[in-house]
Amino acid sequence: MPLKILVTDEVDAEGVTLLRAVPEFEVDEQPTLPASELLERIGQYDAIVGRSATKITAALLRRATRLKVVGRAGVGVDNIAMDVATELGIAVINAPAGNTVAVAELFFGAVISLLRHLTRADASMHDGRWDRSELLGTELRGKTLGIVGLGRIGSAIAQRAHAFGMEVIAYDPYVGDERFAAQRVRREPTLEALLDAAQVLTVHTPLTDETTGLVDAAALARLRTGAIVVNMARGGIVDDDALRAALDRGHLAGAVLDVYAKEPLTGDHPFRGYTDVVLLPHIGASTAEAQQNVAVDACAAVRDALLNGDLSRSLNGALAGEDAATLGPALLLARRAAAVARALLADRGATAVESLTLKTGDDLTSSAGALLAAAAAGMLEGVVELERINLINARSLATARGVVLAHGEGGFAPHSRAIEVRLSAGAHSLRVGGVAALDFTPRLTRIGDFHVDVAPRGTLVVLTNHDVPGVIGRVGTALADAGVNIAEYHQARLAAGGEALAVISIDGAPPAHVRNTLTALRDVRSATVVRFEGGA
Ligand code: NAD
Repeated sequence: MPLKILVTDEVDAEGVTLLRAVPEFEVDEQPTLPASELLERIGQYDAIVGRSATKITAALLRRATRLKVVGRAGVGVDNIAMDVATELGIAVINAPAGNTVAVAELFFGAVISLLRHLTRADASMHDGRWDRSELLGTELRGKTLGIVGLGRIGSAIAQRAHAFGMEVIAYDPYVGDERFAAQRVRREPTLEALLDAAQVLTVHTPLTDETTGLVDAAALARLRTGAIVVNMARGGIVDDDALRAALDRGHLAGAVLDVYAKEPLTGDHPFRGYTDVVLLPHIGASTAEAQQNVAVDACAAVRDALLNGDLSRSLNGALAGEDAATLGPALLLARRAAAVARALLADRGATAVESLTLKTGDDLTSSAGALLAAAAAGMLEGVVELERINLINARSLATARGVVLAHGEGGFAPHSRAIEVRLSAGAHSLRVGGVAALDFTPRLTRIGDFHVDVAPRGTLVVLTNHDVPGVIGRVGTALADAGVNIAEYHQARLAAGGEALAVISIDGAPPAHVRNTLTALRDVRSATVVRFEGGA
């Protein structure tokens, strides 16, 4: 029986040709189907390839009794019920790399359009005018380009900026010096240093807890008068209200926006009236070439997954070949222990992790490879876009960032199913560990030298404080005042009256200000909030 593949959402023909070339496949190409019709038909297909229009819902996946692979010709997988796909063992594959050049080229098009008033010039000409005197522009040459996030797109922009004679600086605490050297980019040690120097500021990071509102009112105020700001990454990295205020008071010469906190932009959004803001409807990846690239990438990966069981491109297929029921909790624990360690180190100012060492109890030693990948994935959460991390690519992603991964010699004594992750960054080093005993929920049992006992779920708040009476009460009251419900509260100390550490598991996502509220309390020294994302 042939393997049936549904191709929908007008995936580029170059990709579809790859699938049609395989004799074992029967390809059914349909425009975007109404949800009810798709639900009706989904039971016949072994794979579906689409873009973002078709919603791959939980209900659809549960009806898809033959489905093995969902391919997304593009990056975002917001339209796919990933948890359910994982639960059902359906691989989800995306195509993250094909867009880079499209975004980098658009960056220069849009920035030059802003600096040379191209849209106004064009509109006035079409209006029958000849307004040369009002169209005095400025040049890129000699200007300082400040890039936040020297990943694929940031690097592609840096390369091209040299051709324009720009001076290129960047802030990205998560990439090594080699990439800066290779791109001839000067590393700024802090965001503040970058802001002080940049005349064109552009962000190219994922949207994470750390980058949400990264360019806020205080950041914009640091920019030189007459600077311009570009956001082609994700809505929310630049704070819209702060940007408007900075434009209104004439501090900035303009902005370019391709992405918005809420898309599509509807009605008379305030930015629509600003002539010094180039507004684009999220067209960064909208080139024929990029659409071809992502279609070919996605279709090739779906083909390999169906024909050869190759899940190396799958976002959620990492448990293939492992016993999900027994190893799943241990993978989750390794991933979350690493996420906790990274967040704690980051709050101590140590962001560039140099090594990750995993120790496992005897029963887990044979799965050390998968557990190391899970820990690497946890370390990358909040640094790399979640859609890009899976247990198969996590190790190579971490290694590419200069992180040395190791499985510590010898068994780990506390428990046969114990796990300990140690991260080192410069002078800082921290271990976080726990136990994933069979038939029990995994527990975190160690943070640094402190013994704790808490389930790594939802959101954890890790506090350090002086061991004096009254702290727990003050913390409890502050959290209650912030409307936060405590699920578990574990207080630990090394010696009476010394340093103490509390791990608080809370329901849902805490309000953004909760960390500041806690650190402002008497005797509280630090507070780190870790929101667990995705599954292992
Ligand atoms: P990438 O993963 O290759 O690079 C992201 C970089 O950001 C990494 O080097 C990472 O170290 C860095 N980073 C993460 N957190 C940071 C922080 N707090 N401070 C400084 N740097 C940080 O990703 P990419 O392919 O270059 O994509 C960058 C962004 O562009 C993503 O948000 C992506 O969704 C977006 N994008 C937009 C469009 C569009 O249509 N406008 C198209 C493609 C990609």
